Amino acid sequence: MRKLFLILILIIFQLTSCQKTKKGNADFEKFKLRLVEDMWKQYPNWATGVGYHKYDSVLPIPDEARRTSDLVFANRYLDSLNQYNVDSLSPMNKTDYLLIKNMLEGTDFSVNEYKSYEWDASSYNFGGTLFEITQNKEAKPLDIIVNLNKFLAKTPVYFEAAKKNLTNPTLEHTDLAIQQLTGTADMLQYGEIREFYLREKADTAALGTSIKAIQSFIAHLEGLKKEMESGKRKAKDFRLGKVLFHKKFNLDIASSYTAEEMYDHAMDRKSSLQKEMHVIATRLWDKYLPNTPLEKDSLLRIKLVIDKVALSHAKREEFQAEIERQIPILSKFIIDKDLVTMDPTKPLVVRKEPAWMAGVAGASISSPGPYAKNANTYYNVGSLAFYAPEAAESFLREYNQFTLQILNIHEAVPGHYVQLIHANKSPSLIQNLLQNGAFIEGWALYAERMMMEEGWDKNTSINKTEMSDEMWLMYYKFHLRGVCNTILDYSIHCRNVSEKDAMHLMQVEAFQEKSEAEGKWRRAKLTQVQLCSYFTGFFEIYNFREEIKKKQGTQFNLKRFNDQLLSFGAPPVKYIREMFGR
Ligand code: ZN
Ligand code: ZN
Repeated sequence: MRKLFLILILIIFQLTSCQKTKKGNADFEKFKLRLVEDMWKQYPNWATGVGYHKYDSVLPIPDEARRTSDLVFANRYLDSLNQYNVDSLSPMNKTDYLLIKNMLEGTDFSVNEYKSYEWDASSYNFGGTLFEITQNKEAKPLDIIVNLNKFLAKTPVYFEAAKKNLTNPTLEHTDLAIQQLTGTADMLQYGEIREFYLREKADTAALGTSIKAIQSFIAHLEGLKKEMESGKRKAKDFRLGKVLFHKKFNLDIASSYTAEEMYDHAMDRKSSLQKEMHVIATRLWDKYLPNTPLEKDSLLRIKLVIDKVALSHAKREEFQAEIERQIPILSKFIIDKDLVTMDPTKPLVVRKEPAWMAGVAGASISSPGPYAKNANTYYNVGSLAFYAPEAAESFLREYNQFTLQILNIHEAVPGHYVQLIHANKSPSLIQNLLQNGAFIEGWALYAERMMMEEGWDKNTSINKTEMSDEMWLMYYKFHLRGVCNTILDYSIHCRNVSEKDAMHLMQVEAFQEKSEAEGKWRRAKLTQVQLCSYFTGFFEIYNFREEIKKKQGTQFNLKRFNDQLLSFGAPPVKYIREMFGR
C-alpha cells in the first residue's frame, strides 16, 4: 500500500515537473519581495507587529468576506509557488520556499478546520497592535495619532463582526478575553495610549469611540459567560482533539517527528530526569534534612529536598531588581567562555508585564521585528503586586535563587534575547518573519543545558561552588517542566486527561509549585501545540549538535556551531540540517 502510494507520487511528480521549465533563483527572489509586500497588505496587524508600519492605520474586519480573501490570497500564492522546482533552488531559497508553502497551507486549516474565530474570543484583542503602532520610530507623533484614529474608528464594526463570529465560544477563552480586553480598554482610558494623545495635545474622541466598543464587546462576553456557566448555552470543549492537534502540530512545529512520537520521547525523558534527580537528592539529603530518616519513595525524596532548597529566594519586592542584576553577569560568563556572539549595542529592557498581555505566562520577551531592528527588546516580568501573600510565596519558591537563574538564561542570555538578535541579522526576511516556535523555545532550552555543561553551576559570582548540586537539581526541575509541557499539551488535547491527573503530573512527577501548576493548567487549556514546542525544539537541536560534534571531532567549535545555528533566523531544525555546512 505504502509502496504503491510512493510510486504514484513519483509518477505524478514527474508528470508535473516536465510540464514546462521551472523558474530559478533570480525569479524566486522577486517573487518573495512581491509576496511579502502583499502579505502586509493582507495582514496589516502582523506587519505592525514586526515593525513594518505602512499599514498601521488598517484594522481588518474579521468577517466572512475577509476569510474568503485570506483563502484567495493563499491559493494565489500557492499557485505561484508551483512555478518553481524546489530542488533547483539554493539552500536558503529552498528553506524559504518550504516556509512559505507551510504558511500558505496553514490558511486553509485555520479558516476551514481550526476556526478559532468561532470559539476564541481572545483572538479579538488588539492591545498588542495598538502598543506597536506607537512604537513607529520613523513617523512623527502626530502621524502616529492619525494612524491610531483611523484604526480605532473601525473598532465598533470590528467588534460587531467578532460578536457574529463567536458562535461556539469556550468558557476559558471568553474569560481570558474579558481580562485582556479590560487591559486594552484601560490602555485607552488611562494608560499608555491616552498618555500618548495627551502628550501631543490631540483630540481624544477616537479613544472614547473605541472604549465604548470594547466595553460593549466585554459586556457581550460577560453575557455569553453567564449563559455558559448557568448551562443555558453549551460551552465548546477547550480540548482540540487528536485529529486537529496532529494537523496543527505538523503546521506549527514542522518537526521531523509526529506529535505522538514526541509524546513518547518526552515520557522517556521524564523518567531519565527523575533518575538523575534521585541521585542528587540522595546526596543532598543530610545537608537539608539532617536527623531525618532518608525518604524511601523516590519522587517524594526529590520533592522534600527541592522544597528545602527552594526556600532560598528573592524577596517579593526585589524580584525584578534581581533579574536586572543577573543579566550582565550572564553576559560576562558567555563572553569569558566564548559560547556565542553577543551584541552589546542592543540593550535589554526589563519591565513590568503590560496589562494587555497579562495572564498567560509569568515572564516573556518582546523583541523588535526585522523592520525595527533598533527598537527595544523587553523582558516582561509578570507582576506580583496582585498576588495574595501565599501565592506570591509559592511563585517565589518556584523561581527560587537557582531556578531564577535558569529563567534568565532561558528568557534572556543566551536564550530568547540573544537568539532574536541573531535572527534579526539573518539575510532571509522570510526566515525572519516565519519563525518556527519550536526552534525558538528549543534554543532557549538548549541554552540552559549548554550553560550548565559549560560550568554555570560553578559560577561564583552568583552561586557558591559548593552549591553545584543544588543548581543541577533545579536545572533538571526546570528542564523537566519543559518536557512535561509536551506531555501535558498532548494529554490534555488528545488523551482527555483530567485536571486532577494533570496536576499530579506537574506537582508530584515534576515537582512544580501549586501556583506554577495552576497557571500551566490554565495556559494549556488556552493554547494547543505551543507547549510542545519546548521539548520538541530542544530534542532536535541538541541531537543535531551531538551529531555535528561527532562528525567534526576535534574540529568542533561550540561558538562556531551556535553562531551558525542562529544565523538562519529560526526555521524548523529539519530545514537547518539541509543548509548547515554549505
Ligand atoms: Zn519564602
Ligand atoms: Zn521561552
